[in-house]
Amino acid sequence: MKVIDPSVPRRRYWSDDVGGREVCPRCGHALINEQQTYMMVVRQGGETVPFIVGARAGYFCTECPTVVLDRPGFEEYARTGIKNNRPAEFTIFGLLDLAAIPPERRSQPIGAEGNPIPLVKFLPDDGQPKAGVAGGKPSAGKRKGRGKKRK
Ligand SMILES: [Zn+2]
Repeated sequence: MKVIDPSVPRRRYWSDDVGGREVCPRCGHALINEQQTYMMVVRQGGETVPFIVGARAGYFCTECPTVVLDRPGFEEYARTGIKNNRPAEFTIFGLLDLAAIPPERRSQPIGAEGNPIPLVKFLPDDGQPKAGVAGGKPSAGKRKGRGKKRK
């Protein structure tokens, strides 16, 4: 039984922006690591390839809707999702709530007609916590959010 409910929209942070994946950057609670399914989009040479990945690279807060994504972990998944195995720019849209798929549809491909992708998008970035919380350093103009450019 999983602890984390993927149907809850969360704020997401990157491990290297918040100084690790041990504690929640918002409330300081310990994070737990659990396998979940993510919707990922990899861009490479003008090509955009969406794919769904079951990954154990997310660290979840059980006290507030926050997930810290392990950047090296997801980079690894992004690499395997593209043809020639080179690093690529990628975005993670959110988690998939697989339990939302009706039982009679579970044998069908996700995203097929009549079987929409049960994407639970991340909450928009509200600028919290302020830069410097994790490392104790004042912001030097470095904004978190590398690799999360949206179209
Ligand atoms: Zn928290």
